[in-house]
Amino acid sequence: MKSYQEWEALRSELRFREGAFINGEFVPAISGETFPSVNPATEEVLVNVASCDTADIDVAVSHARAAFQSGVWSQMAPRARKKVLLRLAQLLDQHRDELALLDTLEMGKSISEMVAIDIPDTIDCFEWTAECIDKVYGEIAPTGVDTLALISHEPCGVVGCITPWNYPLMMAAWKVAPALAAGNSVILKPSEKSVLSLLRLAELAKEAGIPDGVFNVVTGYGHTAGKALALHQDVDVLAFTGSTRVAGMLMGYAGESNMKRVWLEAGGKSPNLVFADADLDKAAQTAAVAIFGNQGEVCIACSRLYVDASVKDEFVEKLVAAAKRFQPGDPLNPATTMGPLVDKAQLDTVARYVSSAIEEGGRVLLGGVPEHQTGEGFFVEPTIIDNAHNGMTFVKEEIFGPVLAVCTFETEEEAIRLANDSQYGLGSALWTESLSRAHRVSRQIQAGMVWVNTWGEGDTTVPFGGVKASGNGRDKSLHAFEKYTDVKNVMIRLS
Ligand code: NAD
Repeated sequence: MKSYQEWEALRSELRFREGAFINGEFVPAISGETFPSVNPATEEVLVNVASCDTADIDVAVSHARAAFQSGVWSQMAPRARKKVLLRLAQLLDQHRDELALLDTLEMGKSISEMVAIDIPDTIDCFEWTAECIDKVYGEIAPTGVDTLALISHEPCGVVGCITPWNYPLMMAAWKVAPALAAGNSVILKPSEKSVLSLLRLAELAKEAGIPDGVFNVVTGYGHTAGKALALHQDVDVLAFTGSTRVAGMLMGYAGESNMKRVWLEAGGKSPNLVFADADLDKAAQTAAVAIFGNQGEVCIACSRLYVDASVKDEFVEKLVAAAKRFQPGDPLNPATTMGPLVDKAQLDTVARYVSSAIEEGGRVLLGGVPEHQTGEGFFVEPTIIDNAHNGMTFVKEEIFGPVLAVCTFETEEEAIRLANDSQYGLGSALWTESLSRAHRVSRQIQAGMVWVNTWGEGDTTVPFGGVKASGNGRDKSLHAFEKYTDVKNVMIRLS
């Protein structure tokens, strides 16, 4: 790991891209408009970036469609596409420090998290996905001797990806890698709060050999560029990661336009169940990571803690001690465990929820939101609020910040009922030394992912996604290809 000084030296050499990447080149927005990319640790403007809207999206879609129709990528043999994507993975590896710095500077995540999580996961996603694409076969259906039914998977066409800012590179990779591997043309609209690493990704993709028009990054706001992409008549698939509110809007846009397929990875309010027979030390350490890692700006953050009432006091003491390890600081310092929140709006949201928790009877055990001083960054302390229950606003709604609600339960049935009493169903964790209880409870939890005696562990080989208002479809694993391919049945009469 590089030292603080080394990261600062690298930062001073960094060059930012400011145009949208359309048809293989950086271009300004047609309107000439820009928006600022801001460092949330210092509030300084890093660079002004092209603020694209409908006109730019139209141009990007027409290039993406032309590239798809030409077959330059869509008809390339899977093995050849694999080689290009593997080359891209290599380039990502060669530029790992630069990419880590770009996300840290723009959204505030600590550089040590970038190095340990986002960068290796992104590279692995491109590598693994590339390696898969020449190993997935079609099927022959068991129709009978007079017919031959060939079932194949074909690329869909033009895929629009709309992504959030909390893991800028990684969230984009989970969509872009399988969409490209399957042979589609892709238009990525990253969050306006985190564009810089994605513009660099586009440049590296070109260097790796992805043909012009096949991978485009259109920068802009959600209500302009994002909405235009979602409403476009010539986009076949929309793959989204972001809030449940916007996810619902995208379903509406698809219905209003061409019924494009919409895949949604949306919000969460994950429960963490700690049973009395759990390893309380491990559970407390991990409960802190599960809500304070990445400043709590994690879709699977376990923001609702349910602990068996009989061990609550003992557990909470361990939890508070573990939480103190997370202290806000300069995210460029490798020793920093928590960076700033992404912007002032997110800081205000967190402050509002903490106030509402106190008004509704919560007791602050740790942290709170200090008065913000302009120019000093959007930092928040790790915050733990006791006396919480499912009727409170801050327990029901996603905060997307480092705020943990501590609730209790008396029985296993009650724990399951409380965990499922949410509009969301993304992640969940449970802690027990009983194998039977682990199976019994995980079967009944309404969530796309259940972690037993751990939290957040992932692998490119396993699917990631949720149920209920947390979305549909899955990122990662072979299941990701289902989003970006159409199933075709060719039925041939033989006699
Ligand atoms: P957001 O919904 O505000 O924005 C996500 C993306 O949608 C951005 O690119 C934004 O510009 C775009 N957008 C906004 N309005 C739009 C519109 N009207 N039309 C089209 N696009 C529009 O979410 P965010 O603040 O960037 O990210 C935080 C949210 O993302 C949280 O709710 C978090 O739980 C969720 N998230 C989910 C997962 C998952 O895998 N389920 C992963 C990471 C983050």
